[in-house]
Amino acid sequence: MLNDCLFCAIPAGEIPSDKVYEDEYVFAFRDINPQAPVHILVVPKVHISCAQEIDENNSIYVAKCFEAIAKIAKAEGLDNGYRIVNNCGADGGQSVMHLHFHLIGGKKFPETII
Ligand code: 5GP
Ligand code: ZN
Repeated sequence: MLNDCLFCAIPAGEIPSDKVYEDEYVFAFRDINPQAPVHILVVPKVHISCAQEIDENNSIYVAKCFEAIAKIAKAEGLDNGYRIVNNCGADGGQSVMHLHFHLIGGKKFPETII
């Protein structure tokens, strides 16, 4: 597996996924353990381990993730809104150390974050 990283391997096609979107910068697929009716993981196609590793050399990939999120949300019919979650590091609850954004929707979330 490339870098021994799951979220490098999935966009490379080394591990199957339920793909919903792909472009030059971004790969998006359904979470294997969905927490809402729509739960999609949006990952950059370069290995960035977490949000703390975003810098001026790779931030274009982050911008492209958010451009993709807007397109995916429209395609998924999330016209009434949705939530974007990023877990960073151990205290942030990150379990896969490749930057990813959870796009979750299809239900009404509380106004509190957690
Ligand atoms: P984290 O906890 O790092 O923010 O989120 C990792 C997410 O990856 C979890 O929601 C988990 O369900 C999802 N996940 C872990 N392994 C796989 C996998 O092999 N395939 C898919 N589609 N999702 C996975
Ligand atoms: Zn990776």
